[in-house]
Amino acid sequence: MNNTESATLPALTYEGGTRAMTLTPVIGTPRREYGEMFVPGEEPLEDGELRVTVLGSGNPWPTRAQASASVLVEVGNAERDILVFDLGTGSVANYASLKLPVNKLNKVFLTHLHADHMGDVITLGGSLAKVGRADGPVYVWGPSGTEPRLGTSHFAEAIEEALAWDTAAGFGAINPDSMRIVGTESDFSKTQVVYEANGVKVTSFPVVHCISGAVGYRLDFGGVSFAYSGDTRPCWPLVRACEGVDVLIHECFPPAAALAAASGLSIERATIALNAAHTSPTAAGKVFSLVKPKLAGLWHTLLSPQVVPAIFAELRSVYDGAVVQTQDLTVINITPEAVVSRQASVSDQLPPIPGHQCVSFQPVAVPPPDWWAEALISVD
Ligand SMILES: [Zn+2]
Ligand SMILES: [Zn+2]
Repeated sequence: MNNTESATLPALTYEGGTRAMTLTPVIGTPRREYGEMFVPGEEPLEDGELRVTVLGSGNPWPTRAQASASVLVEVGNAERDILVFDLGTGSVANYASLKLPVNKLNKVFLTHLHADHMGDVITLGGSLAKVGRADGPVYVWGPSGTEPRLGTSHFAEAIEEALAWDTAAGFGAINPDSMRIVGTESDFSKTQVVYEANGVKVTSFPVVHCISGAVGYRLDFGGVSFAYSGDTRPCWPLVRACEGVDVLIHECFPPAAALAAASGLSIERATIALNAAHTSPTAAGKVFSLVKPKLAGLWHTLLSPQVVPAIFAELRSVYDGAVVQTQDLTVINITPEAVVSRQASVSDQLPPIPGHQCVSFQPVAVPPPDWWAEALISVD
């Protein structure tokens, strides 16, 4: 164990740090050289590689430093598929900073329906259809609930319905198919394959979080793999499903006292949240020692200079494997030979990149309501 680890970790990026928060940024022998920081647009994904980017490392309250829950996976298959696990508030802005095409962000795997895991679905469904996601629907996979209204299908239908005005207002200008949100729901209680295409297999497994109906995911592609806990208490279905996985990003809540001090929550509230729904650093360490990933990612934490050392101190009492404390835009490259963690260096203001459009759509002007003729100020 390394008790001085927290003192030697790189600084948080919002405090000026440029490196991933780990003492083991490279595990194994990479097949190629990676830049010190990941610069979007300058490093094409290689065949057979997975590139995992944390779009949202944070909490139910988004900040400029931390968007709410979301993890992006780019796949080195022929299609260069893009899948996203959860899409919390603020995560779409981080996606844009990666210079990735808007029209490729259409496959969302939700772990559960807490708002901090799905807040940007409405942005993806409505707003990004206007700037490039124009070929067809947003596809959302997720767990069933113990009753239909608590499941992913109802969520997708309800969001689509909530976008009724937005969709009607796009009539004539926007491909109506791109305004659709299509939900696919699977039994939350079973470990099962929920997606298989282009060499990518996604397995959903039950986790223990608040009430029934939360899951985690494992993605396998050509001999490399990645798993993501979503929100959970330490649980056996996750350990069983994640056996042999290369990288496991698991939630790790701060110790209750550290969370209370850093967030302003009462110690009682912080303790209840941790014990009823989440995973302490000690418990995360236990899960990692059972799963034995090449790299363990800590995630869903209030990142502060006080909280991170408290997490590492607790975690290191039970686990001495390779760990990265993920932040927004922590990038992890996974190949059979190596796992490499870096931070991305991005621009805060980029225009959307629509991407290659597969479906042609001719916009038409729609006649305005009659009353506008009198309401509008003439500028001729
Ligand atoms: Zn949750
Ligand atoms: Zn959460």
